[in-house]
Amino acid sequence: MTKISVVVPCFNEEAVIDRFDTRIREVLADLRVEYELCYVDDGSSDGTALRLRAIAAEFAKETRYVSFSRNFGKEAAMLAGLREASGDAVVIMDADLQHPPELIARMLDLYERGHDQIIARRTREGDKKVRSALSRLYYRAVNKWVDVELADGVGDFRMLSRPAVDALLSLPEYNRFSKGLFSWIGFDTATFDYQNAAREAGETKWKLGSLLNYGMDGLISFNNRPLRIAIWLGLTLVGVAALYAVWITVTALTQGVSAPGYVTLVAIIVGLGGVQMVMLGLIGEYIGRIYYETKRRPHFLVRETHRSFTGGDRDRRKAGGDRVRLVSTDREM
Ligand code: UDP
Ligand code: MG
Repeated sequence: MTKISVVVPCFNEEAVIDRFDTRIREVLADLRVEYELCYVDDGSSDGTALRLRAIAAEFAKETRYVSFSRNFGKEAAMLAGLREASGDAVVIMDADLQHPPELIARMLDLYERGHDQIIARRTREGDKKVRSALSRLYYRAVNKWVDVELADGVGDFRMLSRPAVDALLSLPEYNRFSKGLFSWIGFDTATFDYQNAAREAGETKWKLGSLLNYGMDGLISFNNRPLRIAIWLGLTLVGVAALYAVWITVTALTQGVSAPGYVTLVAIIVGLGGVQMVMLGLIGEYIGRIYYETKRRPHFLVRETHRSFTGGDRDRRKAGGDRVRLVSTDREM
């Protein structure tokens, strides 16, 4: 029998996590498959960890649970969940019920037909008009730039086959941009649309600032084309400046020198200064990434897992062992 693992990153989802758990278990029970739920508490500051601990105790057989020592972000939480997952197929979904659990049946169907990545793409109906227009614009622009294809409306909600999961786990990078990674690993991909649901409870963790930063990540994570563009822009400016110098010299020789041009001068200096700042920032952005990669820090630190209360971790803790376990070395590389 196929075993499905469902990976659920949770950050301050106290208000909805129980409802989610009930719904997902109903759906999975109907599918007549073997299943497990892999909950990851991403350092929540509300009662999420407590709720998850209770769930993991109640359904010990089908539940895995990892709790981080602090908030490490959704990317890290998904990675932790994927590492925990032992199923033949793994579904990644949000805890807020925006990803309808019923769609897993359809995913399973496509999985059984041999697809390795089954993506549920949300339509943007019901979204704020401005936000969806901006998103569309962003994806159109970004796809011209990056080497992997990023599709509008495609998020992390998907089913992955075991080979696809293993491929993802073999990518050790610290800066993880999942949308890009999913696309980079390739494999046989199937996509279907679904109507986006509103969040059932709690609130979104995405502020405008973090969305913009995420957008920047998307641009820079998957290629060095921006650097190439910087070179071309620089060369173009040098060329234009050279032509202008020739023109100025010629007019000076033929018509004599006249002094005005203060505004032009200031405008050019400020403009070029701006261009240089942007380019420096760009280079800094790449260097920053190199800096983080070279530290080789783990993606996350674990405070407790489902094993903590079924023996395992606790015994070690009693023995005066390490409170914080460095899981990241577990299966890496
Ligand atoms: N999430 C997480 N860590 C974070 C932020 C979010 O694990 O730092 C989880 C969150 O609990 C939810 C999912 O990621 O299950 C998506 O978050 P959210 O619903 O806030 O994003 P949106 O649906 O608005 O894009
Ligand atoms: Mg959400």
